[in-house]
Formats: sequence, structure tokens, C-alpha cells
Amino acid sequence: MQITELAQRVVNGERRALARAITLIESARSDHRVDAEALLTQLATTPREALRIGLSGTPGVGKSTFIESFGMMLIGLGLRVAVLAVDPSSSRSGGSILGDKTRMEHLSREKNAFIRPSPSQNYLGGVARRTREAVSLCESAGFDVVLIETVGVGQSETVVSELSDLFLLLLAPAGGDELQGVKRGIMEMADMILVNKADGALKPTATRTCADYAGALRLMRKRHQDPEGYPCAHMVSALEENGLSEAWERMQHLLNWRREHGHFQARRSHQARYWFEQEVKSALLARLETSTAQRMMEGLAEQVGQGVASPTQAARQLLDAL
Ligand code: GDP
Repeated sequence: MQITELAQRVVNGERRALARAITLIESARSDHRVDAEALLTQLATTPREALRIGLSGTPGVGKSTFIESFGMMLIGLGLRVAVLAVDPSSSRSGGSILGDKTRMEHLSREKNAFIRPSPSQNYLGGVARRTREAVSLCESAGFDVVLIETVGVGQSETVVSELSDLFLLLLAPAGGDELQGVKRGIMEMADMILVNKADGALKPTATRTCADYAGALRLMRKRHQDPEGYPCAHMVSALEENGLSEAWERMQHLLNWRREHGHFQARRSHQARYWFEQEVKSALLARLETSTAQRMMEGLAEQVGQGVASPTQAARQLLDAL
């Protein structure tokens, strides 16, 4: 298929074309890369905007269950929903976090939903670019909401929060001690903490956990891009589908406020700058890894070691050559 035709089909919202386009941008082959960039350039002329929602949480907290019920709720509101995953640790159990589609049984059968499992990948930089491009493809395909899921491991939260308009942290009901278990940095990224499994015997614990986190959030530095009362903590039961529409209302409130005050666009533009800088850095690192650069580096390191060249001089010489 020609790139122009693929682009047209993506714009028409054809899910198979979208899947194919994502496979193309995920490919490491250099000829695919050329096509991928041509595709993205063509699509950039028909800009569409989706609401990008990042979702993080440790395995077992209920992310898939939440995406399933929250996604179905959004579809019920007439929205088209795409789900992507960032999983830099997908070497574990040989699979991706969304690989098992049966986990989102209803959503995966909806014609207004698109679910993309994460590719097996270990290199976070690559994952970030692929996910960013996949988000943009979903936007071109006319999805209203793009949910970007990640497991709570290290750097992937940063990637997801720098990709999303809204970053949700899903937590399970837990005793007081475990409050400390959530890294401060991750809490600081969250626009909303959702305490899941607020049902049955877990309800009282969930209520306490939610109050604890609400308290912890209040102690954090107030962000100028947020209205009063945000970031906030909210209880949900993904399983019983409770609290989801209230959570959505609170998200809408925050987003409308940010739009009215110019913070929504400001965040996107800050993110665009961030990704530009990341691209430059990773491209430079990639150049350092070529065999020519490696040889030159070894040669220069030798000279530095022998005191023939100063570290500064040698570094300058290498950078000039890149
Ligand atoms: P993930 O690993 O974060 O994607 O978590 P899953 O969505 O696979 O859920 C892990 C387990 O928690 C499953 O057994 C779910 O049925 C259960 N679970 C998820 N959400 C809820 C909830 O709201 N309430 C209860 N009681 N269990 C839930």
C-alpha cells in the first residue's frame, strides 16, 4: 500500500490501517523509518486533537479492569477510545501488558475502540518515540480519547506523563505504611490519584487510603496550572463500575479550567519542547554508538590517558567530528 493511501485510510478512521501504520512506526528498519516519517508528515497536515490520558499503577492494581470499564463508559458517551501501552520491561513473562486482550473483553469488541499491545522492547528511548508517534496516529484516526497505560516501573512514568494531558495514578487500598511505598516523584506527576477496589470488604480501607493520599497531596507544592482542590484523590471500583463518572467529571473540570487559563496548550507546548530535546539527545547518543565514533573515542581516550591531549580538547575534537 502506498503511504498516501495508508494516510487516507488512517484519516478515515480505519482501524486496520491504524494498526498497520503503528506497525510501520514501530519498525527499526531504515526503509520503514523513511516511510514512517513520510506518513507522519502527511498526517500532520490534517491535525486532530485527542484527549491524552496517562494511567500508571503497579501490576494487579486493576489497570486493565479500569480501562475496560472507564473505556466502555466513554464509548457510552459517544467517544472513540484508543488504548496504548508503554512497557519498557516487557521482557518479563515474554509479553506486553496489553498482550492479553481478553483482559478487556468488552472494549476489544467495540468498533469505537482500538487497543494496541505494547511491542517487546527494552530501550526506553525507542519506546518513548514509538508511543508518541502512535498517539499522534490515533489522533489522526479521529479518536477522542487516547489512554496510555504503563506499569509502575521507573522511567516509564516520566515518558507517559510527558505524553499526556492528564496523568492518573491508580492505587490499591492499603495500610498506612504503604503510603510511603509510592515514590514522591510519581505522586508529584499525578493529576489525580484513583484508589481502586473501593468495594465490598475493601471499602473501609479504600476510604482511609483515599483520605491519606488526599492529605499527602495537600502537603505538596500547589501547582499554578491547577484550580483549587487539585491534584485530588478519588475512590473508584473498576469492577463494580462505581465512581467512574464522578472521576470523569473531575477530569473534565480540571481540563476545562486549564483550557480557559491557557495551561492546557502551555503543557502541550512544553511537552513538544521536551520531546524535541530528547530526540536531539538520543540522536547524538546514537551517533556516538556508531563504530567510527567508537574507534575515534578509543583513540582519543588513549591520547587522554597518555596525557597527550586534555579531556576537554579531546571531547571537543570528538564532538566536532560527529
Ligand atoms: P492490572 O495488572 O493493573 O491490569 O490489574 P487487573 O485489571 O488485571 O486486575 C487485577 C485483579 O484485581 C483482578 O483479579 C481484578 O478482577 C481485580 N480488580 C480490578 N479492579 C477491581 C475492583 O475495582 N474491585 C475489586 N474488588 N477487584 C478488582
